[in-house]
Amino acid sequence: MGERTLRGARLGGQSFEDERGIEFAARQQVGYACPQGHKFEITMSVEAEVPALWECPKCGAEALSTSGVKPQEKNVKPARTHWDMLLERRSIKELEDILTERLELLRGGEIGPAHLHRPRKGKKSA
Ligand SMILES: [Zn+2]
Repeated sequence: MGERTLRGARLGGQSFEDERGIEFAARQQVGYACPQGHKFEITMSVEAEVPALWECPKCGAEALSTSGVKPQEKNVKPARTHWDMLLERRSIKELEDILTERLELLRGGEIGPAHLHRPRKGKKSA
């Protein structure tokens, strides 16, 4: 009977460990840091999708997750501008060269409106 009690206790112990293990794995601490420098942790299920933002309990600002979760792309991704499209085709260096070239043509009087042309000879009125 003594032997049986021992075995029962051991089994119970193992069972308890298993339960603790499951409980441990089922939750996670997710850290957040708000723009004001407040840091806090939220306990949530590991199955839950970790929110990128959480309201700071101290100041109410939107705190960003410190676990590397970023706000969804579609909310953050800016619209593609004409400038972005231009940069896909030309480097900044190329654009500078083109700008310089066009400015020389403009100032030389070859392109653009007359009021932007530089006088070819010295100042007449001076
Ligand atoms: Zn805060």
